[in-house]
Amino acid sequence: MTLAATKDRTGEQCGVVGVFNAPEAAKLAYLALYALQHRGQESAGIAASDGRRVRLHKAPGLVADVFGEPDLEALRGHMAIGHVRYSTTGSTHPHNAQPLLARYHGGSLAIAHNGNLTNADELRREMEKRGAIFQTSTDSEILLHLVAHTSSPDFDEALLLSLMRLKGAYSIVLLTPDRLLAFRDPHGFRPLEIGELGDGGYILASETCAMDILGAHRVREVEPGEIVTFSSEGMSSQTPFARSRPAFCVFENIYFSRPDSVSASGKSICEIRADLGRELAREHPADADLVLGVPDSAMPAAIGYSRESGLPFDLGLIRNHYVGRTFIEPRQHIRDFGAKVKYNAVRGMLEGKRVVVVDDSIVRGTTIGKIVKMVRGAGATEVHVRSSAPPLAHPCYYGVDTPSYGELVAANLEVEEIRQQIGADTLGYLSIEGLAKVMPNSASYCFACFNGDYLAGRPESFTKAIMED
Ligand code: AMP
Repeated sequence: MTLAATKDRTGEQCGVVGVFNAPEAAKLAYLALYALQHRGQESAGIAASDGRRVRLHKAPGLVADVFGEPDLEALRGHMAIGHVRYSTTGSTHPHNAQPLLARYHGGSLAIAHNGNLTNADELRREMEKRGAIFQTSTDSEILLHLVAHTSSPDFDEALLLSLMRLKGAYSIVLLTPDRLLAFRDPHGFRPLEIGELGDGGYILASETCAMDILGAHRVREVEPGEIVTFSSEGMSSQTPFARSRPAFCVFENIYFSRPDSVSASGKSICEIRADLGRELAREHPADADLVLGVPDSAMPAAIGYSRESGLPFDLGLIRNHYVGRTFIEPRQHIRDFGAKVKYNAVRGMLEGKRVVVVDDSIVRGTTIGKIVKMVRGAGATEVHVRSSAPPLAHPCYYGVDTPSYGELVAANLEVEEIRQQIGADTLGYLSIEGLAKVMPNSASYCFACFNGDYLAGRPESFTKAIMED
């Protein structure tokens, strides 16, 4: 028997939450994390404070498995932060689960971080030279060490001086015994939303779907470069950084966020994806009988494609929702085992039909190649692949988990070569211009994975990665 991985990517992507001024804050954070489970399945954790002491519970696994009633009861207090983490090979050590809790000369401090720093290696080396002993391989621990090593006895000043040193992407919630802080890097690459719970309570979350589950309502986002503090004096804000061009991750809208979440523009992610599908249909029409979406993430785009083209939308592909990160494969080889565990094609829907298969994105090209084969195997006479994302030709260094140049199919092959490789009759990607047309206020997004325009630079390890590719 062998263990096959459902995904094999590098990097990390996460979800964070914060709850302020609510009884049983940890239980609310738990429910909010439940809603953000799609942002990370490797580990989950919550740190809570009763005003005097910060307590932490975290472990590898899904939210439902990590927390039982007694764990949540023990996380006493009216303030909490939480984290779900996804990462892969090399960095899956249980120590990397968040929140991270540190006790230093200034007191206790817990943080939960979404994003990636681009100067993490330099800062880590510098701190290690100054005697810091790192317990994890996460970027997030760097901020803890920076704060602990500043000479300022004033926490706010220590934090500010530390944040000034960070480059790259961070959306962070931070808990001290008596305060909760939330902040985003000056470009605002990763999301962080503020909501009201009622009775003076607040919630912070990577996505608004975490607010809906608690009956909270969205107030606004934490602005790029803003530090929001929640304390006994209520909510206050400061914007200490020089203004940078906002660069929110456009890929959150295409793939990563849950479709029922609301984007910063006020439009639901579902509507945005349907608009991408419509634009895709205008750019790349197909002579076909029906439209399928690769479940679940491409469904809204497929519906948009269907509405614009007038071709009927149908459920020709079904996904098994109970597939974990690894599964046991029988010794006797089964072709395309990984894809078959996850997807199945419905012969009755596809036999004799010319089919448009809409996917949200093509990363390595492996999944879509197997799906094309599966759809043909179920009797489709033609398979026309459409991607609602433009060619992903550049890795993300700001917190979305995309592979290096060597593995990104669009970084290495022309569209026609990709078409041949995946075995489709035709292949069409939404253009970058088409994407920009659909996105409300498109100049405020990061398009680096499509155009290589890295507004916060690339990490030092990039040069190394290029040489390895
Ligand atoms: P592949 O081309 O085989 O690497 O897989 C592409 C599929 O993975 C797309 O259909 C997306 O739904 C999904 N996907 C895209 N980006 C990511 C990501 N960063 N992590 C996990 N899955 C992703």
